[in-house]
Amino acid sequence: FAKDFGGNQYQLFSSSIGQQTNRRLQLEQRLRKALEQNHLEVVYQPKLNLYTNRISGVEALIRWNDPILGVVSPDEFIPIAEETGMIIPIGKWVLEKSSQQNGEWNKSGYPPIHVCVNISSKQFLQDDFVKMVQQVLQDADLEPKYLNLEITEGIALYKIDDTIEKLLHLKQLGVSISLDDFGTGYSSLSYLKRLPIDYLKIDRSFINGIYEDKQDFAIIDSIISLSHSLGINVVAEGVEDELQLKTLRQLHCDEIQGYYYAMPMTAEKVNHFFDEKGEYLLDRRTLVTTGG
Ligand code: C2E
Ligand code: MG
Ligand code: MG
Ligand code: MG
Repeated sequence: FAKDFGGNQYQLFSSSIGQQTNRRLQLEQRLRKALEQNHLEVVYQPKLNLYTNRISGVEALIRWNDPILGVVSPDEFIPIAEETGMIIPIGKWVLEKSSQQNGEWNKSGYPPIHVCVNISSKQFLQDDFVKMVQQVLQDADLEPKYLNLEITEGIALYKIDDTIEKLLHLKQLGVSISLDDFGTGYSSLSYLKRLPIDYLKIDRSFINGIYEDKQDFAIIDSIISLSHSLGINVVAEGVEDELQLKTLRQLHCDEIQGYYYAMPMTAEKVNHFFDEKGEYLLDRRTLVTTGG
């Protein structure tokens, strides 16, 4: 599978080694400050279920708007957070924040959705990871079934037996698991059957070309068939237009995420989104039906 090289490449080739080191150091220092001073935020991108035609969940995505550096992309600072270990407190914070938020959505009467949280490998490999997740859920008063953890192929393959054990433990709690960015790593379709995952997210680099590129189409077709035969739901990432959506429906893809359906947005905007899409508050819906 081909790898999707993002926007970072330009920066890599256009700056000298010295400038890069400077930027790297500055990012590290500013990120530490951002964490201390609460300059990090979480936005949520709705995911659409193609069978119910309704929102099924949201993915929590971290945002950093630094007073000095401006907006820094997670693709740039998450790797630094991983290298420095800052990902441990940052990742925990995202988990807490988004679980609390989802608890609030649930309690305010919107139809229940799950929140998907990206977990980096360093975080997942912590000995107390499962305990930490359990504690966060308890503190947020959120049922485990409303939490989905997104892991990547890299984590899944590293010490696969330990990974499987940890995933099974999480699933016993009731938490569901997604395999993120599928197709960009060292994908081996054979290990899919061993991993206790609920969702597979096809990386957006394959979705781009779905109706022009016969190979991308064929790859997606076979990923979906194989996943379904293993009882895994498929989510297509980065769906940007109607034709991609139509093609994915034809291929029996279960869910989509992408700018076509919804952008990542603040928690407050998700409330408006619920309202716009007719995802009425439960009590309001009761009023409508009983009021005839
Ligand atoms: P990801 O988990 O694969 O998240 C999806 C990324 O695709 C997000 O980028 C999202 O904004 C973007 N996206 C969604 N729909 C579309 C679309 O239709 N077109 C295009 N071009 N892009 C779309 P974002 O928010 O910049 O995050 C980038 C990556 O950073 C994430 O990829 C994830 O790997 C990582 N990340 C973000 N938040 C966290 C976090 O809280 N913890 C960890 N460990 N990683 C995170
Ligand atoms: Mg993700
Ligand atoms: Mg992804
Ligand atoms: Mg990614």
